[in-house]
Amino acid sequence: ATHKLVWFRNDLRTEDHHALYHACQNSTEAGVIAVVAITPKQWEMQDEAKCRVEFWLANLIKLKQDLAALNVPLKIIRVATNRELPEQLWALAQQINVGGLYFNKEYPEYEQARDQQVEQLFLQNGVACHVCDSDLILPAGSVLNQQGQAYKVFTPFSKAWRQLYLQQPSTPLPSPVQLPKQNYLITSSDAVPMGIGYGNQVGASWNSSLWPAGADHAHQLLQQFVHERSHDYKQLRDFPAQIATSSLSPYLSAGVLTTRQCVAAMQAYSKDPDWFYSQWVTELIWREFYRHLLVAFPQMNRWQPFKPEVEAKISWQYDEKLFRAWSEGETGFAVVDAGMKQLVETGWMHNRVRMISASFLTKLLRQDWRLGARFFMQHLIDGDFASNLGGWQWSASVGADAAPYFRIFSPMRQTDRFDPQGAYISRWLPDELLSNRPAPVIDYAVERNRSIDEYKNSGVLR
Ligand code: FAD
Repeated sequence: ATHKLVWFRNDLRTEDHHALYHACQNSTEAGVIAVVAITPKQWEMQDEAKCRVEFWLANLIKLKQDLAALNVPLKIIRVATNRELPEQLWALAQQINVGGLYFNKEYPEYEQARDQQVEQLFLQNGVACHVCDSDLILPAGSVLNQQGQAYKVFTPFSKAWRQLYLQQPSTPLPSPVQLPKQNYLITSSDAVPMGIGYGNQVGASWNSSLWPAGADHAHQLLQQFVHERSHDYKQLRDFPAQIATSSLSPYLSAGVLTTRQCVAAMQAYSKDPDWFYSQWVTELIWREFYRHLLVAFPQMNRWQPFKPEVEAKISWQYDEKLFRAWSEGETGFAVVDAGMKQLVETGWMHNRVRMISASFLTKLLRQDWRLGARFFMQHLIDGDFASNLGGWQWSASVGADAAPYFRIFSPMRQTDRFDPQGAYISRWLPDELLSNRPAPVIDYAVERNRSIDEYKNSGVLR
């Protein structure tokens, strides 16, 4: 009998995993084998952060255990880049006599191209591919306006999203049932390599006490958040010194957890009868929105802005000294610097501070948003192409439904509002640093006015 092969990528889970679930169904005859590719050069080229790779590998070890409990062995192939991937996957498929390849869709154009190449090679050889939608709650292309077009603005998108969801609530899939022990051609799993030496070697290492690996931990954190913090989320989420948000982004990014499971947890455990309209669910919809945009507006995948006509009129400064001051947390603007220290030291930054920091780099230092986006990717444990791109284009006012051009976060005012006691700032810039701070690298008022003039002159702005 032939085997079914399930290819795991950023979906390191056994529950609510559509490709695994479907492969395991009716597979009493054929065994199911899992495969994952280790692609160090590719990770480096795609600016994967060191901590993200380490976290991903640690979750892969957990996944291997969870798969073993289902009698699904895990094979590991090692290639430098995606270019060698189709051949290597096919070589494995031949070796184990594969009758079908299963995987969950990834939405960035580059990943889609990679998957199409694999699909083509398998199809040419008569092996069917089953591509599932598992990462999104509502598939890209399914949330459209009355003209049948993709939404460009978030609020109407989120309304339509909620309406569609209510018509067709989607519940998470359970884990597949344990398969009978098979006479596999391959029965033992491969060893998962350690996280040393993969991806970019800058920034923080993975902190296993902040983000323990494994779906069990992710679900514990999710339940804890829903029980204890989801109620106050809307009031407290903007205060970076508070532990008010879920901190689940690394798990969502590696696909250890799904947003479907997050929504289901809210439904099951939230004390709020209106949980479906809660701010937290809205944030999960933002994640969906940015993925839908990537598919509907492919130029965004190529680092082009959603609004090229705005960007065309802006002259980025490409000032290495200013960029370095920002990236090292030495701008002399305390909240920006605290945020950058948090990012570099832990691999994560609070959302409010991400917005302040990105606005500062693009609108006040007037540096190209791409440089900031790359730096974020190289350091974030939750680095995610769609959300990061969306966040940066929003901040630079060149994205879909972006911040209006005159919205320039004042670091001082943001601090007064969201860190009034300075608790966040002093956490990342301790006393000895606070008394020894660099002078501000720019004159806020001057740069603010210059920036507004430049965006205004782009002529396309109201
Ligand atoms: P919570 O507040 O608990 O939200 C729950 C989940 O909803 C998050 O884990 C995330 O998956 C999703 N979410 C929340 N806010 C957003 C948002 N604005 N856009 C998209 N999804 C959202 N998020 C990433 O996951 N990866 C990135 O690379 C990333 N880069 C960003 C860059 C910039 C410049 C900005 C402004 C935002 C970026 N975000 C990114 C979005 C957001 O900052 C993080 O998702 C959030 O801080 C993660 O913390 P949390 O899990 O506690 O979020």
